[in-house]
Amino acid sequence: MTEEEFYKLKIFNKISINQIKRDYPNHAELINNCYKSEKYYKIQNRKQVLSNKLKHEKDKNGNLIVFTNEQIYDLYKWYINTPKICGYCGLQENKLEVLNNMPKHINKRYPQRGTSLEIDRKEPETAYSNIKNLVLACYWCNNAKTDTFTYSEFSKIGIMIKEIWKERFKQNKNKKIKTMPIPKIITRNDVIQVIKQIDNERQIPSKRLPRKVALRFNKTNYPVKILISWGYEVATGQDLIYSSFVTQEAVRYLTALGFEIVRINK
Ligand SMILES: [Zn+2]
Repeated sequence: MTEEEFYKLKIFNKISINQIKRDYPNHAELINNCYKSEKYYKIQNRKQVLSNKLKHEKDKNGNLIVFTNEQIYDLYKWYINTPKICGYCGLQENKLEVLNNMPKHINKRYPQRGTSLEIDRKEPETAYSNIKNLVLACYWCNNAKTDTFTYSEFSKIGIMIKEIWKERFKQNKNKKIKTMPIPKIITRNDVIQVIKQIDNERQIPSKRLPRKVALRFNKTNYPVKILISWGYEVATGQDLIYSSFVTQEAVRYLTALGFEIVRINK
């Protein structure tokens, strides 16, 4: 059994850890190393985000589509192997926050849309389970394409949008870049999800343990920056770099979500 096979069995096929250990008695070390590793949580969170995206998909008759574990795994594989740029205008996913924070840039659907790339079907009649039909698209291309334009028609429009982004990024280059605000997409539930992961043995790197302030939940202290960073991962499946925001900002964000913040006296 390889690491990848383990993650597939445990996370996508939902086989219990004890069952896997019984089925692969010679792989105890690999299983122990992978189970609840940092990578394990990242894959699990990514899978959850992808599953959520598919939750409301309906077939032609308006019935909700139930995706099999294999289909979700195929989608996951496709997703991680696909470059994170818009398939129409070439906008990079890691530039989205910069764009959203540009002066005069209006995105009324932010942060629900526009903080990550979306999965678009090239031909809307073809199901999501057909991987070849999928393309990553920015919110603006996906929104403008609707079901009206075909993939090849909108690809032509995408080339023009690409030019416009280029102009905007060029103009923005001269402006001083401050640290970006924490994207408002992280919900209270996302943070509670992270708390559960930590309670469930997700390892906090020792230099990230709470020192001066902490979030207090059920009589336990949790590091505020970890909650924001991992909360963002739960919400979007993407990383939020620790250095892109300061502790005070994380404290303000978590307070606004109704959490208790405490000072730690050593
Ligand atoms: Zn685009």
